[in-house]
Amino acid sequence: MLENLRDAVRKFLTGSTPYEKAVDEFIKDLQKALISADVNVKLVFSLTSRIKERLIKEKPPSILERKEWFISIVYDELSKLFGGDKEPSVNPTKNPYIIMLVGVQGSGKTTTAAKIAYFYKKKGYKVGLVAADTYRPAALDQLVQLGQQINVPVYGERDNKNAVEIAKNGISKFKDNMDIIIVDTAGRHGYGEENKLLEEMKEIYEAIKPDDVILVIDTSIGQKAYDLASRFHQASPIGSIIITKMDGTAKGGGALSAVAATGATIKFIGTGEKVDELEVFNPKRYVSRILGMGDIETILDKIKGMEEYEKVQKKMEDVMTGKSKLTLKDVYDQLIALRKMGPLSKVLQHIPGLGVMLPMPDETQLKIGEEKMKKWISALNSMTYKELENPNIIDKSRMRRIAEGSGLEIEDVKELLEWYNNMNKLLKMVKRKRGDFEKFFKGKI
Ligand code: GDP
Repeated sequence: MLENLRDAVRKFLTGSTPYEKAVDEFIKDLQKALISADVNVKLVFSLTSRIKERLIKEKPPSILERKEWFISIVYDELSKLFGGDKEPSVNPTKNPYIIMLVGVQGSGKTTTAAKIAYFYKKKGYKVGLVAADTYRPAALDQLVQLGQQINVPVYGERDNKNAVEIAKNGISKFKDNMDIIIVDTAGRHGYGEENKLLEEMKEIYEAIKPDDVILVIDTSIGQKAYDLASRFHQASPIGSIIITKMDGTAKGGGALSAVAATGATIKFIGTGEKVDELEVFNPKRYVSRILGMGDIETILDKIKGMEEYEKVQKKMEDVMTGKSKLTLKDVYDQLIALRKMGPLSKVLQHIPGLGVMLPMPDETQLKIGEEKMKKWISALNSMTYKELENPNIIDKSRMRRIAEGSGLEIEDVKELLEWYNNMNKLLKMVKRKRGDFEKFFKGKI
């Protein structure tokens, strides 16, 4: 099960096994977990060789421990395996927005139709369901019952066997008073009969011209999802995919990675029988979950903090060359970036020249610095955007309001502003005399 990876990450990060050996052990655990989740063996091996290659080619960012860096690479590569940065867009792009659902019998299509209806209804859209699954007699009753449960109207024609007609009639019925219309089509085919399924899909597609066609796939088919998804993806490039029953099988990884490998977008995953058990699928979020949210988030925060810090550093260079002006917004961005990177004592070891934005380049003052950082972030949080961009407007009464809003003394706010003013003066001086500036940051002035 992929869930076992969480323990492997924990063991790797907290264990005392030497780095190289721990990496080998982790990679073995990773391969085992992926293969037992039915991920294609070729995909598994290319994933591990990419991880190993990056370990050789790339240099760890200074802010991360080597083990953290390794896990960040694993996170990145696993995310790619499950679809990378793809964050599916689920917002309807027109009104009414017509969604057509296709899928083989038993895949969870009808349940999913109701789940999607509920998903959009909760977002405030008016939704109508059309039962065009004429093959399974109980499908209409099932959808009517689900519709009642979520209070969404269902259109169906009990004695009509013509799915195309029902779909068309349903759409005419709903098109003037609904934002979203979901058409549940016949799923009479079994796996292995994809061609028939796709042919029928085309027929209804031509008749109703939906805005999205979604193929529903049951997770338990694992890697076999590749064939189905790729044929579907070729036949319907606007289409996307929902994988159901992610809760009930160990094969979740197999179906997800197989579908991702076809280039198709996985829009939602079904995680239970109940009507609210549907999630928008986000590969990165999924991977953070299987690797252990807490551990991953700490590592990603550090990386993000570092990137944001570098951005502010660039801005500082512009300030020094007179291209830009230092605002409290820059100070705020810098403090937040630092906060993400971890405790000051650790951060200082990793970032040369950090004294730039903080009043205490001296390590003995770290604790004071840490407290000051907290206070200043609160004060900056209580300022308006205008005040951050243009601190000169902050008079006594604004200072009082900021202090009250952040639970600080007015002196704290004053101190921040004084520091900001000194910093500005200093930066102006630097423009003239770069040497003094460097001396200042080395603590020599
Ligand atoms: P259809 O034939 O494709 O329309 O399939 P149904 O909607 O009738 O679903 C078949 C079975 O799968 C039903 O028992 C559903 O409750 C169940 N089902 C659907 N989606 C999920 C899911 O995400 N998780 C679980 N555990 N069961 C599901």
